[in-house]
Amino acid sequence: MSKSKIFNIKCPSCGVQQDVELHEAVNVEAEPELKKALLENQLNRVDCIDCEASFRVDMPLLYSDPQHDILIHWIPETAELTKEQIIEDFDQSLEQINEMLPVDIVAPSVRLALTRVELVELIFIIEAGLNQRVVEYVKYSIHTRNMEKIDPEKFRLLLNVQDSSEDELCFVIQDVESQALGTVLRYVRAAYQSMVELYDENPEEFLDMFPGPCISARNLLLEDSDEV
Ligand SMILES: [Zn+2]
Repeated sequence: MSKSKIFNIKCPSCGVQQDVELHEAVNVEAEPELKKALLENQLNRVDCIDCEASFRVDMPLLYSDPQHDILIHWIPETAELTKEQIIEDFDQSLEQINEMLPVDIVAPSVRLALTRVELVELIFIIEAGLNQRVVEYVKYSIHTRNMEKIDPEKFRLLLNVQDSSEDELCFVIQDVESQALGTVLRYVRAAYQSMVELYDENPEEFLDMFPGPCISARNLLLEDSDEV
């Protein structure tokens, strides 16, 4: 079920306050127009009543698509809530849910995304039937082979499912700070496919590398560099 509430929001440009309805949960099977709004960067967007400003309000959003078996919680990082804190809280609440459920009931698998682009990327990855851990493994290897040019401190790689073809997966480099999209990298799909075969034979290595709930090559690389 979709869920929205009225919030009093202050315009970041002129400071005028207004009451607006914002979504906390979207069920895109029941309301496909909300998926369209999310993809078009219009969900939870506010037009100021007093100036020309149009701005997006980022707040926790539960994205569900029962038809495609997709459940993703987008929890944006804020000054008060760091990435580490979000991941820790999320892990804890998953554990609590699992403890509360009867033993014969399997908890739905919920994914975690920290930014809107990662949420959108993940929706397309799952819908296309791609293996998210293998996709992140590919990104990991692209990063590690190009540490100078694609420094994970400054850039993230996003898989562009729509521009990918039968022969190639198409990745785009995003500047984390400015959010600007840059160079496009093409990766031979056959190489991805042979990694999927490795995964199917022995998923443990991939699961060890990317246990979840936030499956991200960039986060793994940043954690590794923190430990050095
Ligand atoms: Zn304004």
